Amino acid sequence: MRPDADLLILGGGCAGLSLGMQLADQAPPAERTVILEARTEYINDRTWCFWRLAPHRFERLIAHSWPAMAIRSKQRSVTVDCRLTPYQMLEATPFYAEAQGRINRSKNVDLVLGAGVRDTPRRVGKMWQVETDNGPLTARHVVDTRPPRPSRTSDAMLWQSFFGQEIECTAPVFDPTTVGLMDFAEARTDDVLFHYVLPLSPCRALIETTVFGPRPLAAADLAIVQAAAVKRLGHGAGFRVLRAESGVLPMGMTTRFPVPGPGYSRAGLMSGAARASTGYAFQRIQRWAQAAAESIRRGGPPIGHEPGPALQRAMDRLFLRVVRDHPDRAPDLFIRMFGNADPARVIRFLSDQGTVADCAVIGSTLPLQLFLGEMLKGMVAMPGALREAA
Ligand SMILES: Cc1cc2nc3c(=O)[nH]c(=O)nc-3n(C[C@H](O)[C@H](O)[C@H](O)COP(=O)(O)OP(=O)(O)OC[C@H]3O[C@@H](n4cnc5c(N)ncnc54)[C@H](O)[C@@H]3O)c2cc1C
Repeated sequence: MRPDADLLILGGGCAGLSLGMQLADQAPPAERTVILEARTEYINDRTWCFWRLAPHRFERLIAHSWPAMAIRSKQRSVTVDCRLTPYQMLEATPFYAEAQGRINRSKNVDLVLGAGVRDTPRRVGKMWQVETDNGPLTARHVVDTRPPRPSRTSDAMLWQSFFGQEIECTAPVFDPTTVGLMDFAEARTDDVLFHYVLPLSPCRALIETTVFGPRPLAAADLAIVQAAAVKRLGHGAGFRVLRAESGVLPMGMTTRFPVPGPGYSRAGLMSGAARASTGYAFQRIQRWAQAAAESIRRGGPPIGHEPGPALQRAMDRLFLRVVRDHPDRAPDLFIRMFGNADPARVIRFLSDQGTVADCAVIGSTLPLQLFLGEMLKGMVAMPGALREAA
C-alpha cells in the first residue's frame, strides 16, 4: 500500500515549520511532506532573540538589532559592545507568515492547520499510522516536534519560566541602543530572578520577568513581580500593554524521550533543541532543520538534534549545578562572565560556536573554589548514581 506521505511532521511550530521551509526550498523537490498542526491560526505568541554570528535566512524579518547589552546587579553593572554580533529580535508573526508563504509555494510540502495528532503513531508494516482530528494518515517517516508529554519537574535540572509584556509608555524612558539582558533585582536563595528588557523605541519595550528555578512557574506566579518591574523599569511613566508572552524552557534535560521505532525522530524544545545553560533554542532549531533536510535529501532518515560538543555540555551541566545549589551567587557569575572575558568569546560560547580557548577563558572568570566544590560534590554523588542506574 502506498503511504499518504513520505514524511509527516507532527507539530507546525518553530521546529516543524523550520524543517518544512528547508524541504520546501530543496531542488529537486524532496519527499512529499505533510506538516500537521493543531492550531487553526498563528498569532504573535513569541519573540525569538539571538546573536547574529553570521548572515542568516531571516535578515529581512528582523524587527530590531541591538549593538550593546547590559548585565546589572545591585553591586555591579557591565555594558558590553556587541555591534559585530548584534543581538537580534524576530517576532513570531513574520516568521509564521514567511514559513507559510514558502510552504504554500512549494509542490512537495503541505501544512494542514487544525490537524491535532492523537497519541503516539503506530507502526503498521513498514509505515507509520498517525491518528489525526481529520482521520488517519500513513507515512514512511515521522518527525515528531510535539512535547512528548506534559513536563514533569524532574525532566530538567532547572526551569526557565518567564512572563513578558510589550508596553508603550507616555514618555521616552528607554534607550533603544542597549538590551537589558539580565537585570538582577536582588540575590535570592531559592531561585534566580531577573528582568529582561528589549527596548524597541524610546517609548516602547518588551519587559520580561524571568526565573531560573527548580520547578516550572506559570505566568500568574510572576505577575506581581512583573507589575513592579514594569513600573520601575518604565520609570513610573504611564503605559499601556500591547501584548504579552510567557513560557517555560527546560535547562539541562534529565529525561531523554525514546523514539517508538525506525524512521521516527523527535525534535523541538523538549527533545534536545534547548541549550542547557540558556534555554535558547531558535538557532539550534535552524541548524537541526538544515541538517535533517540534508539527511533526507541524501535518501537517509530524518535526524534528531545533535547533543553538541562534550566540553560545552560538561560546562553547561556544572554551571547549572552551581546555579541550582547557589542561586544567590548567580548575579555575580553572569557579571563576571560578561565583564571579565572578551564578550565575543561569551557570545560564541552561548551561541554554540565556542572554541576550546573560549571555554577555557570563560572558565577562568568564574570562582574556582565554588566550581571545584560542586565538581567534588558531583564526583561523590557519582558512585551512588551509577549504582542506581545499574
Ligand atoms: C514566549 C517564548 C519566547 C522564546 N524566546 C526565545 C528566544 O528569544 N530565543 C530562543 O532561542 N528561544 C526562545 N524560545 C524557546 C524556543 O525557541 C521556542 O519555544 C520554540 O518555539 C520551540 O520550538 P518547537 O517547535 O519545539 O515548539 P513550538 O514552537 O511550541 O511548536 C510546537 C507545535 O506543536 C503543536 N502541537 C502540539 N501538540 C500537537 C498535537 N497533538 N498535534 C498537532 N500539533 C501539535 C503546537 O501547536 C505547536 O505549534 C522562546 C519560547 C517561548 C515560549
